[in-house]
Amino acid sequence: MLERVVILGCGVAGLATGIELSKAGFDVTILEVTSKARQIRPGESCHPGIEPLLKQLGVFDQLMKSKPLRYNSVLITIDGESRTDFFNEEQSWQGFNFDRAEFDQVLQQKAISAGCKILTGVKIIGFPLQGNMVKAVDTDKGVFELERLVDATGLKSITAGKFNLRRIYHSEKQVCSYTQLKFEHIPARLPRAYFESRNGSWIYCSMINDQTCSVTCSRNGSFEFSIAEFIQDHFKRPYEVVVSRNYVTSWSILAPYGIDNLFFAGDAFITYNPISSKGLLKAIMSGIYVAFILTHISRGKVTLREGNILYQEWGRELLKNEMQELKKVNI
Ligand SMILES: Cc1cc2nc3c(=O)[nH]c(=O)nc-3n(C[C@H](O)[C@H](O)[C@H](O)COP(=O)(O)OP(=O)(O)OC[C@H]3O[C@@H](n4cnc5c(N)ncnc54)[C@H](O)[C@@H]3O)c2cc1C
Repeated sequence: MLERVVILGCGVAGLATGIELSKAGFDVTILEVTSKARQIRPGESCHPGIEPLLKQLGVFDQLMKSKPLRYNSVLITIDGESRTDFFNEEQSWQGFNFDRAEFDQVLQQKAISAGCKILTGVKIIGFPLQGNMVKAVDTDKGVFELERLVDATGLKSITAGKFNLRRIYHSEKQVCSYTQLKFEHIPARLPRAYFESRNGSWIYCSMINDQTCSVTCSRNGSFEFSIAEFIQDHFKRPYEVVVSRNYVTSWSILAPYGIDNLFFAGDAFITYNPISSKGLLKAIMSGIYVAFILTHISRGKVTLREGNILYQEWGRELLKNEMQELKKVNI
């Protein structure tokens, strides 16, 4: 019998996990709570490091067809001093600004063609346990029995809540506002990726296409950015607000836990503050790594417990490295 894996959450992390597990021959079901078409989500700027991961998932060529904006640097202004930060010394690495709705759609189609079953509008009721193993997911659409469970439900992780798992915070919680704006035409002189920080507050502006841009900002320190002023200064033209929402963010990770057949991917496991522009990269990387570990477990190369501990330790190491990067921008 094929090993049954239930993945909770049809975001980028859940889809990446599902694609890789289906390719490896697992019987994969993804349960998603929302039923309508995906709403606009933040997260369109991607570090060049995402490219090999998209190739591994088999979605890179499809994503490139819509010609996402590419750029080899971010214009950075810290406390009034500007510089251009290239992704690598040779200035050859190129970041991406994707249209998120399209990005998610391409991943979803790939997951379905790889063999994942995706059920939407599913309300999760509980998780029957046997010892330190989850046996099933109990939902309003029936009971889904499983051998492995992957929680990819984002920062408000449903299983962490149900099992009362602890989260370790490595930074203060911050409120980040995300605004997506539509212009008749964006002036060409604007950089595709622009970051500015003053007294601990920061703002990040990213072009999505020649009509749309997103502005993410966090008012953390003594200085308050005004999005309206920022737009007036930089764009000098009328715009329409497509979406505007606040999110509570920080750098955090789940504390070690001992439910052996439960794995976490994406924000449910590790969350970065948006200034890293590596949220999607990390969501996909963790999904690919969960699938890799589960494949090794099923082939008897490591035990379930060893595999789970190895994965959790990898996450802690990854976060530690990112925290070093964070210190460089002095936030
Ligand atoms: C303001 C802001 C700006 C950002 N900017 C960037 C950026 O420029 N670049 C970047 O790479 N990253 C960025 N990020 C981070 C990025 O958005 C996240 O890291 C990424 O979306 C995480 O993906 P995920 O699949 O783990 O979670 P999510 O995208 O949150 O997906 C979780 C899925 O689980 C579903 N779900 C939730 N609860 C349940 C439940 N109970 N049962 C079933 N399903 C459930 C949700 O509906 C959703 O579909 C930003 C984040 C914020 C807040």
